[in-house]
Amino acid sequence: MRYNPEPVRRLARILLNAMTVVSLLLFVAILGLWASSGGNPIAIELSRCFTSEPDHVRSLHCVAAAWDGRIILGRDRWRWEGERLEEGRARAADHGPAWRWTRSSTPGWWGQTYWGGSSWGPLRWDFTDWTTPAFLGERRLVSVPCWLVAMSAGSFPAWRGFRFLRRRQIRRQMARAGRCAACGYDLRATPGRCPECGARSAHSDPAGVIED
Ligand SMILES: [Zn+2]
Repeated sequence: MRYNPEPVRRLARILLNAMTVVSLLLFVAILGLWASSGGNPIAIELSRCFTSEPDHVRSLHCVAAAWDGRIILGRDRWRWEGERLEEGRARAADHGPAWRWTRSSTPGWWGQTYWGGSSWGPLRWDFTDWTTPAFLGERRLVSVPCWLVAMSAGSFPAWRGFRFLRRRQIRRQMARAGRCAACGYDLRATPGRCPECGARSAHSDPAGVIED
């Protein structure tokens, strides 16, 4: 029995198509965010305090923001213990026990990548540590320009679209030359289905197939 790669190919095609759709959505979302922010910050922050351990309090603060043509992603992680435990407890009581999310339109702690930090080409980041014996403070912020995200997200669908058009062109050329689109086998004697690979010809009209 011959190995039939058709299900594998179909799965690969579904995955590639799904990736294309996701990239395209990301591309549109970034462009929309870029346009709607108009230079002003749009930020979504998510935070939580963890108080279940008796000897320390932890907090996590995440952000996703668009500001001045840049996408900013980051988080602050803090931990209080020992002599600074009470400070953490007060902070946790102030925050509340659940996850909390806020939407803001003013630059906050995450604006660091705009004001300072490190950079390499269009990338900026701020990796700061404030760790002392009774306290751990850690900031991880990265920011990339919207155009870079849009270009990266858009290149995959663009490549897929280009390949689709190119393949269609090749298929048409093959059909015009009377050859199988899948394997190139000469179909002039057997129009309709390829005797070599079994692929159905796109052009099953024998009169139209033979041209040269
Ligand atoms: Zn064939």
